[in-house]
Amino acid sequence: MRQRQFLEVLDRDEAERRWRAAIDAAPLPAERVALADSLGRVLGEDVRAEVDVPGFDRSNMDGFAVRAEDTYGANEEAPVRLRLGAESVPTGVAPKAEVEPGTAIAIATGGMLPRGADAVVPVEVTDVEAGTLVVRRACVPGAALSFAGTDIGCGETVLFAGTRLTSRDTGVLAAIGRRDVDVVRRPRVAILSTGDELVQPGEAMRPGLVYDSNGRILADAVRELGGEPEFLGAFRDDVAALRAALRRALGSADLVLLSGGTSKGEGDLNGQVVAELDPGIVVHGVALKPGKPICLAASGRRPVVILPGFPTSAVFTFHEFVAPVIRELSGLAPGPCEVISARLAQKTVSERGRLEYLLVGLVRRPDGGLAAYPMGKGSGSVTAFSRADGFVRIPRNTEIVEADSEVAVTLIGRGLTLADLVVIGSHCVGLDAIAAALAREGFTVKVMAVGSQGGLAAARRGECDTAPIHLLDPASQTYNRPFLDDSLRLLPGYTRLQGVVTRADEAREIDDLLADTALRMVNRNRGSGTRILIDRVLGARRPPGHAYEPRSHFAVAAAVAQKRADWGVTIETVARQSGLRFRPLQPEHYDFAVPVDRWERPAVRALRRLLAPASPFRAKLEALGFGSPHEC
Ligand code: AMP
Ligand code: MG
Repeated sequence: MRQRQFLEVLDRDEAERRWRAAIDAAPLPAERVALADSLGRVLGEDVRAEVDVPGFDRSNMDGFAVRAEDTYGANEEAPVRLRLGAESVPTGVAPKAEVEPGTAIAIATGGMLPRGADAVVPVEVTDVEAGTLVVRRACVPGAALSFAGTDIGCGETVLFAGTRLTSRDTGVLAAIGRRDVDVVRRPRVAILSTGDELVQPGEAMRPGLVYDSNGRILADAVRELGGEPEFLGAFRDDVAALRAALRRALGSADLVLLSGGTSKGEGDLNGQVVAELDPGIVVHGVALKPGKPICLAASGRRPVVILPGFPTSAVFTFHEFVAPVIRELSGLAPGPCEVISARLAQKTVSERGRLEYLLVGLVRRPDGGLAAYPMGKGSGSVTAFSRADGFVRIPRNTEIVEADSEVAVTLIGRGLTLADLVVIGSHCVGLDAIAAALAREGFTVKVMAVGSQGGLAAARRGECDTAPIHLLDPASQTYNRPFLDDSLRLLPGYTRLQGVVTRADEAREIDDLLADTALRMVNRNRGSGTRILIDRVLGARRPPGHAYEPRSHFAVAAAVAQKRADWGVTIETVARQSGLRFRPLQPEHYDFAVPVDRWERPAVRALRRLLAPASPFRAKLEALGFGSPHEC
């Protein structure tokens, strides 16, 4: 495929500066909405109270309106007697009678203080005896009442423009009697997904297609920011169709977002179509990772952006460049940006010449600080962003960040919540079932899949509650236990069967499969437990496909099911899910290493309960194809 190079790749800040100079991001005009429709909207006016709150001197208790000086000296031994007026003051009524010296008038909580009174005596310190009030405690002027305007004074500014209205704010607006309020019009954001390979969730899937996740995440991110998304659909890589869709989008939108088709490959036509606008493309290519191919453009002074198609790139560049513009158009101040310090858990290599955003998950270290684990998935990942706690910016000219380096983590979302159970190690379908069971008990679980060895290291450093591992010690031919030191305790997990898979119509057994040199295999990455097993099965043989080394049980099953390979080694559960024929090789132990000092933590106890030999949860694991380690 023919490729054009990016002519000029700009520095992030310079790219933003040029684009901001070309677009208009001033708050949109205000519109008046009913108070009942104002929740979540951004105030377009400073709101001044036109009334006092409370509007009158108000009793805060059920009791008696009095002149405070008439009660002076009263106590249990020497109560004061006042003449009780016939009228009593309920709520919602202006009293007619006046409190004369030596008298009292009954009043309800919320009642309006009668003329002459300056305090309220609570009913609890009084007795009524035939038209006389006996007061057993003295009070001071102002006791048990709120003067008019103490809460909100007439003319006071109670809310400022740029506030996003919460229920607390709408309550204040109601308290001052506002029926409607001026709010900034929501920015209309048109969203177009592009690419021949896209199908919408729920539509029929075929090999080579992908579900359109960008359309959804962008529309909902716009909505979260207070904008009004208009998702126009997914469009094929076809100039005429894209041109027509862009024209439609520009009809009413305040901002247009396209995703995909911005690299300089031959099928990437969005740049071409956006270049036809006036002024068109302002920046195409920014020294970022992920996100290099982002295209920042304008139509008139209206922002138009082509986000890269890779989901992590799309969402990152959205938050870096587009979200601030939507906030400004909405009348909001720049977003809160919480940055906290952590130590990087693993050495990380970065590309020179590009600002790199490294997504990380955060866990508590034993010394109380935080450790940041790189999420380790590329820019094509949809889950990395949704699971990460934050990201680290690795500057353009840094190539290596050593393990244990201090890094600044910008939090994604609001505040950092640390999980009840931090799991770092090897991933398994059975672990997902465990996490789901713990979640139903109300525990939050954070799983970071870094492999068995990475998990063991994290457990030794005391950075996780448990490390699921499956490591065979060749010398003793036992799993897991030989790898633990005194700081770790083994919680037996389950066994899972590893075996050779083929498509269902292949009936031959392992030896015959290996003997057929026309068959292609799918291997596993070096260092994985499965690879050790494959090496043992193969001996010195090197069938075609030996160098094809995907990194997960799922990828092996997919390669065989989709005929990129004819056989591979994976676990039984995954093989059955994919409808493959399975030939057992050996059971493997998947156990949990737990730091000794975390053994009694509530979430670890819950995990131990689930995995106990007689636990009902064992039946669930068995149904998934996982055996009891206690029977081996
Ligand atoms: P592109 O930027 O069009 O070259 O796409 C880069 C990668 O992102 C390809 O693997 C696309 O399949 C993927 N991609 C593009 N658009 C979307 C989308 N809307 N949802 C999910 N993946 C996408
Ligand atoms: Mg594309």
